[in-house]
Amino acid sequence: MARPVGRFAPTPSGYLHLGNLFCSLIAWLAAKSRGGEIILRNEDLDVERSRKEYALQAQRDLDALGLFWDQGGDKGGPHSPYGQSQRFDFYRVQLEKLEAQGRVYPCFCSRAQLHAASAPHASDGELLYNGACRNLTPEQVAEKRRTRSPALRLRVPEETIAFTDLHYGPQAQHLPTGCGDFILRRSDGVYAYQLAVVADDGAMGVTQVVRGRDLLSSTPRQILLYRLLGYPVPEFGHTPLLLAGDGRRLSKRDGDQSLSGILSRGYSPRDVVGGLAYLGGLLPEPAPAWPEELLPLFSWEKLPRGDISLPGSLFSGSR
Ligand code: GLU
Repeated sequence: MARPVGRFAPTPSGYLHLGNLFCSLIAWLAAKSRGGEIILRNEDLDVERSRKEYALQAQRDLDALGLFWDQGGDKGGPHSPYGQSQRFDFYRVQLEKLEAQGRVYPCFCSRAQLHAASAPHASDGELLYNGACRNLTPEQVAEKRRTRSPALRLRVPEETIAFTDLHYGPQAQHLPTGCGDFILRRSDGVYAYQLAVVADDGAMGVTQVVRGRDLLSSTPRQILLYRLLGYPVPEFGHTPLLLAGDGRRLSKRDGDQSLSGILSRGYSPRDVVGGLAYLGGLLPEPAPAWPEELLPLFSWEKLPRGDISLPGSLFSGSR
C-alpha cells in the first residue's frame, strides 16, 4: 500500500484544545504507522477570526507533544505557501474552473431569508438551501447586483456520493437532500472552507484526511469538488469528538483544556499524549508515552466510535 500523505489543518482562531490534539495524534499515527508524511497547513482562511499568535502556538504545541510534521509551518516545502491566507489567487483559479463548467451561481439571499426559507438538514441541523437564486435570469442578476454583492454557490447534481470511512465505514449522501447547493465564496469575498480545503488537499498531494467526525457530513460534497476540480479523492478517516464533563463538545474557548493550561498544572507532554492514547483505546490506562512509542499499538479498530467524555480525573486537578 502506498505511503499516505496526511495533514494537520488547524484553524488559528484559538488555542488548540484536547480534542484538536487528540485528532492530531490519530492523524499522525494513521499516516506514520504506514510510513507516511504529515503536512501542516494553517487554515487562516477567515483572516478576521485568525491570529498569527494562535498559529505559532499550534506549532509549538504539536512540537511539544512529538507530533512532528514534514512540510509546512516553519519547515516550508514544495507546496508553499502553506497558509490559506496566502493562497487566495489559487482559490480564485479553482473557482474559475467550476465557473467554466457552469456549476456556479450568485446567491443574493440574506441571512434572514436563508433562515426563514431553508429546510434544516435532517441529520445535523445544517440548513439546506431552498434554491431561491438557482434559476435567476441574467437580467435579475444584474438588477440584484446593484444593491447587494452575492455569495457564490455550487449547483449540486442529482447524485448520491458514497465512500468508505476508515473508521465509520460505508457512508452515502444524496447531494440535493443531504447538503444542497453550498457556498463556495461568501458575499464578503471570503472563500468557503469547503472549496479551500479540497483545493489545498488536492494541490498538496494529500492522500489521507483524518479529522473530527463533525466533518463527516461535509465529505460527500468535498468528494464532488475533488472530482470537479480534477484531483484524486483521498481516503478519509474521521475521529470521535471529545466532550467536556457536561456533555458539550470541547471548543477553543475552553482555555483550561489548552495544552499550556494542562502543562501549567504539572502534567508533562508525555502524560498528555498517553492520556489521549488511553482515550483512543490504544492504552489500557493513562500512562506517559510519546507518539513514536504508540506506533505499533495503533489501529482504527481500537478507537471508539462514539464521542468520548473526558473523565473528570484526566488532566483536571494539578499533578
Ligand atoms: N480547519 C478545520 C478545523 O480546524 C479542519 C479542516 C479539515 O480537517 O478538513 O476544524
